Amino acid sequence: MVIEFKPEPFTNFKDEQNETDFQQALDKVEEELGQTYPLIIKGKKITTEEKIVSINPSRTDQVVGVVSKADQTLAEQAIQAAAETFAEWRRVPAEARARILFKTAAILRRRKHEFSAWLVKEAGKSWVEADADTAEAIDFLEYYGRQMIRLSEPQMLTGLPEEDNEVFYIPMGVGIIIPPWNFPLAIMCGMTASSIVCGNTVVLKPASATPVIAYKFYEVLKEAGLPDGVVNYLPGSGGEVGDFLVEHPQTRFISFTGSKDVGLRINELAAKRSPEQRWIKRVVAEMGGKNSIIVDKEADLDIAVTNIVNSAFGFCGQKCSAGSRAIVLEEVYDEVLNLVVEKTKHLKVDDVSDPQVFTGPVIDESAMNKILAYIEIGKQEGRLVLGGNKGPDYGYYIEPTIFADVDPKARIAQEEIFGPVLAFIKAKDFDQALAIANDTEYGLTGGVFSRNRFNLEKAREEFHVGNLYFNRKCTGAIVGVHPFGGFDMSGTNAKTGDPDYLLNFLLKKAVSEVM
Ligand code: GLU
Repeated sequence: MVIEFKPEPFTNFKDEQNETDFQQALDKVEEELGQTYPLIIKGKKITTEEKIVSINPSRTDQVVGVVSKADQTLAEQAIQAAAETFAEWRRVPAEARARILFKTAAILRRRKHEFSAWLVKEAGKSWVEADADTAEAIDFLEYYGRQMIRLSEPQMLTGLPEEDNEVFYIPMGVGIIIPPWNFPLAIMCGMTASSIVCGNTVVLKPASATPVIAYKFYEVLKEAGLPDGVVNYLPGSGGEVGDFLVEHPQTRFISFTGSKDVGLRINELAAKRSPEQRWIKRVVAEMGGKNSIIVDKEADLDIAVTNIVNSAFGFCGQKCSAGSRAIVLEEVYDEVLNLVVEKTKHLKVDDVSDPQVFTGPVIDESAMNKILAYIEIGKQEGRLVLGGNKGPDYGYYIEPTIFADVDPKARIAQEEIFGPVLAFIKAKDFDQALAIANDTEYGLTGGVFSRNRFNLEKAREEFHVGNLYFNRKCTGAIVGVHPFGGFDMSGTNAKTGDPDYLLNFLLKKAVSEVM
């Protein structure tokens, strides 16, 4: 009997016992750092010469793990393994597939802090962010398992007296899963679980910055009884292995979360039919955002300020949902700016092993350089009011940075930076604020702080984003509560954590028999 879905609660770190338990999990993970991991094709562990080295971004001299790296020959084997396994896995009843997800969730729940500790070490997530990432992974497993059971039940149709009619869903085939490094457990798990619970088999190419947590997740799937070959774990470079997997004629669909540029490239490659390809590949892509938070003149400014800081600097702004533009009405602009600067000043930038640290490192050197380059651009385009520098040298640290008086058309107001950089833009009235917010190629999240019902309703209609939040932060969507995904260059609008999400990975068939 499957009980009703309920989101996994977050851990209260003010409770001393929780703090002690989490610290113990960190100590345990610390002892396991630096190990080597194979890639896995149909349950077979394969070690390669070439490796991907995963580094702790908080302490760049610390190796989190060393992972085997696939070439095209191994990628071909992985696809063949997935294709062979599909013939059997597709026939496993939906309830049985869902049960594996539920069991995976149960194991993750028992080892929750351990998984979160890996996220602290491998992704540079603060305790709170890591805990939320693990909770979301558990939610995806529980939620998609239930949704698959629902979809496997008889579906409603209009009847005809002389016919027996039925519709049902069938799996698609081999999928390629290309998850991001920023939710290296939750999103990777959600993308993988949603595909396989539908009866598909997959090649999982983890993000190169966070392959160890994906390996650990694979181990849990295996422990939960997932047959070999349903998930094939294949770290590799995007250029060599990613393109090959996407273009492969046996690939049926691609599920991707990451940057706009890579998403568009995948979409383009997938659109071209390869010789021997028998279908139109489906692409589910969740890409970037340039998300705005509007502060109306009639707003609770304290609430607005707290949530702007949270949305902009939580996990150093490395969320596609992050609020990177504060569009503030001129009557309250100076006050909001000053309060946000004041609050941000107190954020400690350091190693996230320390529970007091809110802003840890950014993910790697190239991200750090890209963000620093944007900060230089920002100095030309706006008034630097806070930050702008690198942090301690032992990690990839950047100070939370705020630019004021930024032109809505400026590059730092239009391009996704994916780092701790916030642009303040002044608006003369609410309509202008909305127009500025909508004037980007993205459409992912947005926030409005207002007490004015008329303005809130106007935003409800006109603010063109997939996830709009009123009087709260614009990050932290909860599975089943806030179906997540955007419009336009933010992606294909496949809403994760939504009752319809699994339809992206299924085909629908109607059967009619004359009686
Ligand atoms: N779902 C996450 C949130 O609501 C963001 C996901 C992402 O950054 O890709 O904050």
